[in-house]
Amino acid sequence: MPPANSADPADALQPLLEDTLLQCASVERLLADIRLAKGDGTADDEHDPDGPTLSAEWSQLVGMQAHLLRDLHGINHALERVASGTFGRCLNCGMPISPGRLEARPATAHCIGCARALENR
Ligand SMILES: [Zn+2]
Repeated sequence: MPPANSADPADALQPLLEDTLLQCASVERLLADIRLAKGDGTADDEHDPDGPTLSAEWSQLVGMQAHLLRDLHGINHALERVASGTFGRCLNCGMPISPGRLEARPATAHCIGCARALENR
């Protein structure tokens, strides 16, 4: 971890992107495993002890995947803002996003005030 006071929050985006892509890939692999496990059994779910477990795991993974894809989307947008020189400014009000917030959530597109307002909409 670089010291917080010298770190450019934009520097955190690339590792964050790679990390999120890795997580996506492993969720993808787990989903493929379940697809296989479901596929090669009989269609008789009620007598298959793995049936309900697999279904629960499946929906959990699908939820996780949706979350990761949302994150990826946000990170890609943040990288675009780095490229266009608007990174660190709120997309809603144009004010600078506080360094502490950017450090905690490098991909954020909104200042804390707008983020709260948008959440409560
Ligand atoms: Zn704002």
